[in-house]
Amino acid sequence: MGTTFEVKLVARKISQCQLEIIRQEILTQLDDVNGKMSTYLSSSEISRLNRSRETSPQRLSRKTITVLAEARHISTITQGAFDITVGPLVNIWGFGPESRSQKTPTPEEILELTFQTGWEKIELNKFTSTVRKSDPSLYCDLSAIAKGYAVDQVSAALVQKNFLQHMVELGGEIKTSGRNLSGKPWKIAIERPSIQGRTLQRIIPLESLAIATSGDYRNFYQENGVRLSHTIDPRTGHPVKHSLASVSVIDVSCMRADGYATALMVLGETDGYRLAMEHNLAALFLVRTLKGSFLERETPAFQRLF
Ligand code: ADP
Ligand code: MG
Repeated sequence: MGTTFEVKLVARKISQCQLEIIRQEILTQLDDVNGKMSTYLSSSEISRLNRSRETSPQRLSRKTITVLAEARHISTITQGAFDITVGPLVNIWGFGPESRSQKTPTPEEILELTFQTGWEKIELNKFTSTVRKSDPSLYCDLSAIAKGYAVDQVSAALVQKNFLQHMVELGGEIKTSGRNLSGKPWKIAIERPSIQGRTLQRIIPLESLAIATSGDYRNFYQENGVRLSHTIDPRTGHPVKHSLASVSVIDVSCMRADGYATALMVLGETDGYRLAMEHNLAALFLVRTLKGSFLERETPAFQRLF
């Protein structure tokens, strides 16, 4: 997934050997999600689906179907602002597995690729664990949601091993379970979305909840003085451009939090906030002001948590 992870466990007593077993289990869970859902691995299930020109149902693992189903659900709720089929656009703007080309895509290239996209072109059947691409050239990119799912999987594996107090972090997406070593809720920092180094915006206490953040301040590049974000607006085929610098979503499911954080980032501070209100999402929006500071906007569901 091109990122790092960190896991903290609270345990009364743990042997080196037990610790090694847990470490292996965590790696197994991460490798499993990576091996199924990474577009960076040509052998992954999603890469095979992307290469295939088949328009009849294809069997996939239950895990990949689960993530595809949640992605589809978020697409419905956001009327397509969240769309995993924007993969070709992510790639042409230089944020995909291939190295970035030096030139900006032309309007014609963008238009052509937008015809290839469309989340409605993926049909899922959970009972048969199959997916059908109604367009053979459909290309799916699960980068906006799979990390959150991987965090949930690692957390569930730890619970199964009876480690009920833990914190799992993968590329900034986090899930906490129970409380920390001091018997208090885990203290989670939300970064200030500034491009000059890492500073904190806020520290929030979390207990058995997940938080995911999407932003324009980490993964971007500058072109002719314009900052291009890795979040693509499927309606325009262009990277999003607005003053929303980051959005964090809290949910019991890290997969949901991850997906919605990206979706709200696409929608921006006005439409995103409205959607988050309508669907009772606990979200914190950090909006860039003209003076270079950040304005915090919390939804009522977010306020109720703290
Ligand atoms: P990060 O990877 O920094 O945690 P996100 O969870 O927001 O951030 O995922 C961003 C990635 O999602 C992009 O790099 C791209 O692969 C993909 N993506 C971009 N735009 C969209 C979109 N509108 N819908 C779904 N996925 C998207
Ligand atoms: Mg996301």
